[in-house]
Amino acid sequence: MLTEQKTGNPADEEKVINLQAYSLLMQAPVGFSLLKGNDHILQLANAAGLTLAGQTPDIIGKSIVEILPGIESQGYIQILDRVKHGGETINLVQSPVTLVKNGEEQTMYVNLIYQPYYEGGDITGVLSVSTDVTQQVLAIKESEELRERFETMANNMPNLAWIADADGWIFWYNSRWYEYTGTTPRQMEGWGWKDVHDPATLPAVLEKWQLSINSGEVFEMIFPIKGADNVYRPFLTRVVPIRNIKGDIIRWLGTNTDITKQKEVERLKDNFLSMASHELKTPVTSLKAYGQLAEIQLEKKGDTQVLGLVQKMGKQVNRLTTLIEDLLDVTKIQSGKFFFTETVFDFRELVLEVINDMQITNGSHEITCNFCNSITVFGDRDKLGQVMNNLISNAIKYSPKADKIIVNTHVEGEGVQVSVQDFGIGISTEHQKNIFDQFYRVTGENQSTFSGMGIGLYIASEIVKKQGGKIWIESIVGEGSVFYIWLPFDHRTIKNFNDI
Ligand code: ADP
Repeated sequence: MLTEQKTGNPADEEKVINLQAYSLLMQAPVGFSLLKGNDHILQLANAAGLTLAGQTPDIIGKSIVEILPGIESQGYIQILDRVKHGGETINLVQSPVTLVKNGEEQTMYVNLIYQPYYEGGDITGVLSVSTDVTQQVLAIKESEELRERFETMANNMPNLAWIADADGWIFWYNSRWYEYTGTTPRQMEGWGWKDVHDPATLPAVLEKWQLSINSGEVFEMIFPIKGADNVYRPFLTRVVPIRNIKGDIIRWLGTNTDITKQKEVERLKDNFLSMASHELKTPVTSLKAYGQLAEIQLEKKGDTQVLGLVQKMGKQVNRLTTLIEDLLDVTKIQSGKFFFTETVFDFRELVLEVINDMQITNGSHEITCNFCNSITVFGDRDKLGQVMNNLISNAIKYSPKADKIIVNTHVEGEGVQVSVQDFGIGISTEHQKNIFDQFYRVTGENQSTFSGMGIGLYIASEIVKKQGGKIWIESIVGEGSVFYIWLPFDHRTIKNFNDI
């Protein structure tokens, strides 16, 4: 410390201060050097300066051109001359310099200050302060390259894409977005995107988007976006959160994919399904009626052999009728024509009825039930019977090696809860979330032997949801499944089904 070194003698004290200043300079973490004379002879260089130039102290006393021959052609000697002769101080920022270090040419980036060095009022040399900023420059170059690559990719992909900050404020869109919507960055900034949304769907979009922002969950939704031609087209929008290493959301990355073509194909498929199932229904109904007439005739004649065959045919016709009716239900759901006829009825009685019917036609499994008292429910009796039918027939179908199904009903809150338990093949967790989707069937070795179309559970879940209820599953592969449904006693008393 300067104060500690005081001896009382001013000359001594000055010597100490000079020594300390010299030592400070020599140990400083930035490169210092002094070049003197017109040939820029190196008089002094600190350790950092030597390291930066890849040199050792034996270069002191040599001219800079001798030490670093390559720098003349890189324009540095002219700069030194300007400082030495013109008295200018020159600042160079991130200046590239190629030096030979350890026998290899290396380009580095340095911040340099060249300043005239005065002695007795004259400029006798150049004082140089240098800092190696190669790492910073390379990092900036790399991030610029990355940004360029990202922009090239983002602007050339067929989807519309954008980035928002953690609060949902959109600050970047790709060029496809502007091309498709015919808007400008100024119009779209922040929440400006609302202008290209259909006012009819905007509230639902905003609500869902706000939910994602609050919960940090991926956003996925289909909604229309207006094009530059003022035509709304359906887009599938997916927004994923980008997190920092602490796990906090720092950005949202959104993409909008035009699904007009897919929607058209879906529409054609739905039309075809609807037409085909309608067309099939009439001949199958006649077939069933003729079969029943034939059964009566054969019974009268006592022809038991042919009667047996016709009865078997009747069973197959019944299966066909169920399949056609399921397909018709799907097309009705799609077109919004799945209508309900609602009454007040005893739910316990309905479940009993379904179980009895199933038990008669299925001898392989014993269906046991634990019942609560009679429960009055307001809803579509036939459709809820269809749900129970589907759950029990699935339980039988997917547990070929078991012989027991357990049905439970009990009052739960303001409704009734029913469970159908089997001891069959079970469903893995990854498939559980999809089994209520239309045409979804679990694939795998265990499932390949079971026939089906993957629409029974879809229809069941649509019915339960429309009746204000819930449907869910618990299952363990190889041990069995429990399907649950919960139905309100009277869904008219529930204002918002989503709150259930
Ligand atoms: P499917 O006609 O294929 O049975 P569903 O819609 O009724 O159609 O069921 C969808 C899929 O869910 C089935 O393909 C099957 O893989 C699975 N699944 C349904 N119920 C059960 C069950 N009780 N046990 C195991 N898997 C089941």
